[in-house]
Amino acid sequence: MIRVTIFNEFVHERTEERVREVYPDGIHMTLKRALECEDIEVKTVTLLDDQCGLTDDVLKETDVIIWWGHMAHGQVPNEVAQRVRDHVQMGMGAIFLHSAHESKPFKLLMGTPCSLTWREDGDFERVWTVNPAHPIAQGVGRFIYLPHEETYGEPFTVPEPLETVFIGGYEGGEVFRSGLTYRRGNGKIFYFQPGHETNPTFKIPEIQKVIKNAVYWANPIYRTTSLGCPHVEKP
Ligand code: ZN
Repeated sequence: MIRVTIFNEFVHERTEERVREVYPDGIHMTLKRALECEDIEVKTVTLLDDQCGLTDDVLKETDVIIWWGHMAHGQVPNEVAQRVRDHVQMGMGAIFLHSAHESKPFKLLMGTPCSLTWREDGDFERVWTVNPAHPIAQGVGRFIYLPHEETYGEPFTVPEPLETVFIGGYEGGEVFRSGLTYRRGNGKIFYFQPGHETNPTFKIPEIQKVIKNAVYWANPIYRTTSLGCPHVEKP
């Protein structure tokens, strides 16, 4: 069983009617329903939980964390973000969705500003598969068509990725590296751009497929329980 924990800040859905209409019980619940199956179990946590619900015990029992945040990145305590970073370094998988590019744990793991250009004009987007042999792209096809998505544009100030799986192209002509993988320590990381809160992007089957593929890909095959330097005996 792969144990997934979804963190959603869960602010837009509680404060904006147009977002609540799209995700009445929150983005985290839509993602949970999309992912749960015979070999994936899903726990959800939000900013409303003490320590964002991300205690050391919860992270120890998380194989892959999924993060969605936007307007309340600053409300995530630094120690929680550092704890998530440390567990990724030890081997926990991590998937950062859409505006999580500016979340504290993502920026800690990348070590760069992770900034981009953006506009919100209801453009269509094609998410092009540029690495069709990658496990995360299986079953997706040549591209995913999104009728409306927030436009994210380059430059995206992240480190050079390990792999580029998808590139988004927008109605306005912008392009954006929309599916990127990284390794930090023992942990595998996937950044995926689609998922603006006013668009029903997470209800689109191909988007759900990509995120599910990413869960299987990021599931750790090795993890340690410490980041220290153990003293060892001579072999
Ligand atoms: Zn957005």
